[in-house]
Amino acid sequence: MGKDGTTKLQEEKDTVSAMIHIYCKGRHGTADGLCVDCQELLDYADTRLDKCPFGVDKPKCSNCKVHCYQPEQRERIKEIMRYAGPRMILKHPLKAVGHALRGKGSRRVP
Ligand SMILES: [Zn+2]
Repeated sequence: MGKDGTTKLQEEKDTVSAMIHIYCKGRHGTADGLCVDCQELLDYADTRLDKCPFGVDKPKCSNCKVHCYQPEQRERIKEIMRYAGPRMILKHPLKAVGHALRGKGSRRVP
């Protein structure tokens, strides 16, 4: 195991990346990788995470009090999370379960 903080940050980045991929494939019909818009948003999200004032102790972005996203990107990320959230359970069972445990509702996963 490396430094705990970097792992957590990386985990958040992986989750965002996975969700954007699911969304882009489902909504934009991208077969491989991401379309230009989604790639741009992913880069943006990565940059926000790198510059997060909470650093390694950051809460999940969805619970964060500091709204560091610009309104437009924020709306897009929210839409992506709404779309990809439920689908994460199928594609990334472990990540989805981890999210459910850390989140407020404890949804049962069959
Ligand atoms: Zn896309």
